Amino acid sequence: MTTQRTLRPQPRFPEQDSHHFWEATKQHKLVYQTCNSCHGVVFYPRTHCTHCGSLNLSLHESKGRGAVYTVSVIMQSRHPSFKDLGAYPVAYIDLDEGFRIMSTVVGVKDSVKDIKCGMKVKVRWEDQGQGGVSLPLFEPA
Ligand SMILES: [Zn+2]
Repeated sequence: MTTQRTLRPQPRFPEQDSHHFWEATKQHKLVYQTCNSCHGVVFYPRTHCTHCGSLNLSLHESKGRGAVYTVSVIMQSRHPSFKDLGAYPVAYIDLDEGFRIMSTVVGVKDSVKDIKCGMKVKVRWEDQGQGGVSLPLFEPA
């Protein structure tokens, strides 16, 4: 499911480390890397393995399912992209493939009460304008 709303801050290109990640979001694909040397999972996108330093990485598509690791709710934001959102949850999501992403949780009635650590979530894409990237948000699974 895709939603449209006020555009959030956008990545600025060229961006060597994360260009492939943002290109994949245009097809609503959440990608991550693994190391071909030590088999570690690497996220956020980089040119090297954070476990052993190898430059030999492979790209994979996540199923977009995971659980809330932790969440905090921002009650007031003056940033133009966020001021109309009201209480805005910022959450770390642990994906089933073994990486953690910072995002938000949408599709709940009360973001203060309805988002719990360990809650199962799935990715929900928010397109950022024609030809632009899409942002991986999360909703209850
Ligand atoms: Zn490695």
